[in-house]
Amino acid sequence: MTYVVTENCIKCKYMDCVEVCPVDCFYEGENMLVIHPDECIDCGVCEPECPAEAIKADTETGLEKWLELNTEYANKWPNITMKRDAPEDAAEHDGEEGKLEKYFSAEPGEGD
Ligand code: SF4
Ligand code: SF4
Repeated sequence: MTYVVTENCIKCKYMDCVEVCPVDCFYEGENMLVIHPDECIDCGVCEPECPAEAIKADTETGLEKWLELNTEYANKWPNITMKRDAPEDAAEHDGEEGKLEKYFSAEPGEGD
């Protein structure tokens, strides 16, 4: 198993998760992060740190597309280990429906 980042990270990107990961396996896109499934050691410490509750264990049902998305973009985006400020409008988008279709960007983030 692995942990994966899911829809509610999009445009929230609070980044509390990156500071607690012992193996630095978060990767940064323009408006969300992903976890590298082959690097994640399933420790679970990031899950309760996410204010958007966007991090899930992939043993939960219905997360196949998120596992695919995390796998694909962890191999394309830069590594991120240091927290930066969340987007100014993060709270407005927290919990919004349909963020994948509306806002997902395949562009990489800045990384460290
Ligand atoms: S803490 Fe949650 S919302 Fe913030 S970047 Fe990590 S996964 Fe995304
Ligand atoms: S479960 Fe542990 S190893 Fe996996 S991403 Fe979260 S903090 Fe990192």
